[in-house]
Amino acid sequence: MVVVVPISEFASCMGYCQFRIINSFHLGLSPKVSAAQINGKKVHEELEDIDVLIPREAVTREDLLDPSVDLDIPRETLRVLIKRKNKNDFVYIGRMDKVMRLNGNIHIIDDKTTSKPRTIFPDKPIQLSCYCEGFKENYSDFIAFNKIFFSVIQRDKNGSILQEDKEEFTKQTREMLMKKFDLFERILNKEIEPEHHNNINKCRACGFDCKFKI
Ligand code: SF4
Repeated sequence: MVVVVPISEFASCMGYCQFRIINSFHLGLSPKVSAAQINGKKVHEELEDIDVLIPREAVTREDLLDPSVDLDIPRETLRVLIKRKNKNDFVYIGRMDKVMRLNGNIHIIDDKTTSKPRTIFPDKPIQLSCYCEGFKENYSDFIAFNKIFFSVIQRDKNGSILQEDKEEFTKQTREMLMKKFDLFERILNKEIEPEHHNNINKCRACGFDCKFKI
């Protein structure tokens, strides 16, 4: 069986609540869309509208293969796809908010709207690590780079930046990601049970009306 997994959903399952795997993939349920998600989508669209107005010069294949040339890739244009085999065929897919190459290093950026700056929950580093892994797999032959970093930018409802958290995608980060893939796939394959977070606040904030709610 081929299981297509949106990377954002994989990250929520492994960084927020593992029972989402049962809800989303075994039962076919969908969470309610929150007002914050609607506003987040609006801010993303506005950022995309502004981004297309940035004057850009066409780059050559040589430019792409030269890490000393900075690149400002238009928003929401680069997708990633990661294939894995774990009893089933897993295909993880996603689209990155923003990718840049600066001083030879790739920066993958994810924008998040919030009323005030908050501690980043684990789902975001997992999601962005997936993008880094996918970028390396899908684009390394066309775009040269030295290191790869990921950032979460927290913005207010008008799109203004409140906080940026940046991290390098290291060997250790990749090892963490591979363990998350394996755990996710084993739960989805019904080899092991999900573990409950036992956090009532997470259930209160969750859009699923599920039987595992506490
Ligand atoms: S309601 Fe609670 S247990 Fe159910 S998916 Fe949401 S966070 Fe998980």
